[in-house]
Amino acid sequence: MTSLFEYAPAPESRSIVDIRPSYGLFVDGEFTDGTGTPLKTVNAATEEVLSEVATGSDADVDRAVRAARRAFVKVWGPMRPADRGKYLFRIARLLQERAREFAVLETLDNGKPIRESRDVDVPLAAAHFFYHAGWADKLEHAGLGPAPRPLGVAGQVIPWNFPLLMLAWKIAPALATGNTVVLKPAETTPLTALLFAEICQQADLPPGVVNIVTGAGETGRAVISHPDVDKVAFTGSTEVGRAIARAVAGTEKRLTLELGGKAANIVFDDAPIDQAVEGIVRGIFFNQGHVCCAGSRLLVQESVHDAVVAALQRRIGTLRVGDPMDKNTDLGAINSAEQLARIRELTAFGETEGATCWQPDGDLPDRGFWFKPTVFTDVSPAHRIARDEVFGPVLSVLTFRTPDEAVAKANNTTYGLSAGIWSEKGSRILKVTDQLRAGVVWANTFNEFDPTSPFGGYKQSGYGREGGRQGLAAYLRSDS
Ligand code: NDP
Repeated sequence: MTSLFEYAPAPESRSIVDIRPSYGLFVDGEFTDGTGTPLKTVNAATEEVLSEVATGSDADVDRAVRAARRAFVKVWGPMRPADRGKYLFRIARLLQERAREFAVLETLDNGKPIRESRDVDVPLAAAHFFYHAGWADKLEHAGLGPAPRPLGVAGQVIPWNFPLLMLAWKIAPALATGNTVVLKPAETTPLTALLFAEICQQADLPPGVVNIVTGAGETGRAVISHPDVDKVAFTGSTEVGRAIARAVAGTEKRLTLELGGKAANIVFDDAPIDQAVEGIVRGIFFNQGHVCCAGSRLLVQESVHDAVVAALQRRIGTLRVGDPMDKNTDLGAINSAEQLARIRELTAFGETEGATCWQPDGDLPDRGFWFKPTVFTDVSPAHRIARDEVFGPVLSVLTFRTPDEAVAKANNTTYGLSAGIWSEKGSRILKVTDQLRAGVVWANTFNEFDPTSPFGGYKQSGYGREGGRQGLAAYLRSDS
């Protein structure tokens, strides 16, 4: 059925960004050449090569760690905490001033809709710097001991799903607590981290306080295993998280891991269905489902299953999939050919294992990496699509009859990062929340983030918390 009111194209202009043909590493306050073989970064929506980016070798990582150590010992460590806070405020303000530039660049490099990079990623990244700027001179009041001290040099490795936001989650608390940083962005999304390096220069941040070393997994391995790194912070897959835990074991390094998830989004029969459907859509299709805390397992009370699935399919039929630079787009491109192949492989398992696959009508663009929003019904807890992190726009629907069954099914996973509950009954929400083994539980909403709120997992979702007062602990020594 064609709608009476068709959308007119509403493309965001890309003229605000000036993408250079090539980028170096950001070490000791300057852009320098890398000695590894450069990588190409690609627009996921068009497959156009955006730029060539240097790869950091072991020697480059060593240079960056030495610069970070010098900055820690000579400048950043001894600096008055209130002055460190001023630098963080300055960075936050510059991120706001250049917000549109960051949003456009993030969308070009990642494939996510401009609406999300503009309204979620960039404002939240600035908010993380503002929030942590406030903590810089109040650390003795954080409940972590009378005189908490920084650890030293933090080696940080981040993924491609929220490139600038994950950078902010890592760098803001590290700097506010007096540490210096060597950060490796993901291979497919390095550009906003390199623009952030320009912000560090613009803010006159002392050289060496933040170093950005681009490259692939080998560069990440060099960062986390460098002997002069005091703290390792990683967000990414459980598999790489395990390898990092093994590499760090037996050293003095402190470690936080934020890994995968397979969150249950639980809809009780008293939930307002239209509101729940909006939350289900936001839970799994936000950022193409490339979200560690995505609500990828929908648990619906049996009596409302058919009504919820019908309303959900109607709603998905109205989602706009396509050009991420169009301001009306709801779902953009899958970040890379590799990720698309992984999503296809896991959804193929869903069909061979006997689940029923549903996708809306409509064509996908010819070029680029795309996957339609997908719903599997008739899913059993043993199916791979109910157990493995797909990290794409793929929802598995399961049912339950009683609250106890809902809790048992929700907790029946090797992960424990997040969950959602939809119900009108406050007492039920509180009781079920208490029984869920998940770091974050949303009630009548999903995928809400705030720098004041700690985020992190149980079980194979990792350990440690990021954000809030609790997140500061990962970067501080509280022994006297
Ligand atoms: P990875 O875990 O491989 O990547 C995360 C980061 O770690 C990247 O910067 C990566 O570099 C780097 N890295 C890779 N290997 C090592 C290593 N041995 N030592 C140190 N750093 C390393 O995730 P992928 O991008 O490969 O995605 C694979 C799957 O992981 C996805 O399909 C998804 O299921 C899951 N994933 C989960 C995320 C989450 O937040 N929970 C985030 C990203 C992925 P490089 O980019 O060059 O590979």
